[in-house]
Amino acid sequence: MSGSLLEASSRRLDDALRVVDGVSDDTLERLSHPKSTLTVSIPVRMDDGTLRTFRGYRCRYDDSRGPTKGGIRFHPQVNADEVQTLAFWMAFKCAALDLPFGGGKGGVTVDPKDLSLMEVERLARGYIDALADFIGPDTDIPAPDVYTNALIMGWMVDEYSIIHRQFIPGVITGKPLSMGGSRGRDSATAMGGFHSLQTLRSRLVGDAEAPTVAVQGFGNAGAIVAGLLHDAGYKVVAVSDSRGAIFSGDGLHIPSVRKVKEEQRELRAVYCEGSVCDLVDHEKLSNEELLELDVDILVPAALENAITAGNAGKIRARAILELANGPVTLEADEILVDNGVTVIPDILANAGGVTVSYFEWVQNRQGLYWTAEEVAARLEHRMIVETENIWSLAEEKSVPLRTAAYAHALRRIDQAIVDKGHAEAFQSNGHRI
Ligand code: GLU
Repeated sequence: MSGSLLEASSRRLDDALRVVDGVSDDTLERLSHPKSTLTVSIPVRMDDGTLRTFRGYRCRYDDSRGPTKGGIRFHPQVNADEVQTLAFWMAFKCAALDLPFGGGKGGVTVDPKDLSLMEVERLARGYIDALADFIGPDTDIPAPDVYTNALIMGWMVDEYSIIHRQFIPGVITGKPLSMGGSRGRDSATAMGGFHSLQTLRSRLVGDAEAPTVAVQGFGNAGAIVAGLLHDAGYKVVAVSDSRGAIFSGDGLHIPSVRKVKEEQRELRAVYCEGSVCDLVDHEKLSNEELLELDVDILVPAALENAITAGNAGKIRARAILELANGPVTLEADEILVDNGVTVIPDILANAGGVTVSYFEWVQNRQGLYWTAEEVAARLEHRMIVETENIWSLAEEKSVPLRTAAYAHALRRIDQAIVDKGHAEAFQSNGHRI
């Protein structure tokens, strides 16, 4: 492994290894190397007629348990190390939830806010042209991630289908409903995190009537979870987007905040005067101040590395629900554990998204589509079961939930690798079928 993020991930694997007995050396060898990573150049005709080339990546980290699965992000910070790390996390996330998938991830180094919608479409189609031989419904199945959505997934499925001269909906999940998407996919990440938190609620905050919450990030996952928590009687006192945070000690009226954000596209719009803005009493905070609020539950729902060694000691929340991928660094994790902050780790907390992606893929293969209620019930059941499994393992081994989640996933990955033949079996003299 190379690169800081990926190295940090291997430390999480080391922690898990102390909990799981008898992991095969083959498994460790396999998980130390990404299976394959493709780097592509994507030429895109811009609206002004010029040609601009973007760098894209797709990593299939490990496919021991099935086709690789994971999102595609469009973000200026995308690079090979990040994509490989995110793919590694996906392998553990899928195993933690017992989905029949390995881990993959992709991305394009771009700030989509600099592009017109038609330029984004050409980029999305160009990415699929470059990757057409690398992905497929039985090999590697992309989905949305940071700054990508159902619209973009729709263009991608369409492009893949044009290349193959047949409609192949199972190649990408998170599509529009009209193209074989699943009901409940757009709210699935938030919903999964909500179920995991509800499962552990009394263990984390006792019988507090209206536990206080701060949500960092007001994209798809952050905005929806804020709404779910508000409706369930939590007091959401602060939310933020990349431009700043708003706070109200009495709790924000999240439906109004969401309405303003949707209309104006940024939380700053909530600071305006008049109309719907008056519905939302609030003070302004910086993103850093939001993270350090004295709340019961902190929900980082933006990007990696929100909580680092620099601010971990100042976190006053009792529990953290990691809706983003990798919001807590390795060093920060140790500080939080020492300070008694319980972290519901990303590979469990945000796994609702890929779980409903799995349901979408199943529906595409069946050609039979489920109701919203069926999707919701199956997601809730799976989140509760695996949250309880991970909690029990953490209790049994006296380790943090993150270590337990990795250990729980590692057992499943190890089993799949061992079942294909392993060093110990080949080396043992007298081994017979
Ligand atoms: N991007 C999401 C994640 O990080 C979803 C991936 C998927 O649905 O395949 O879990």
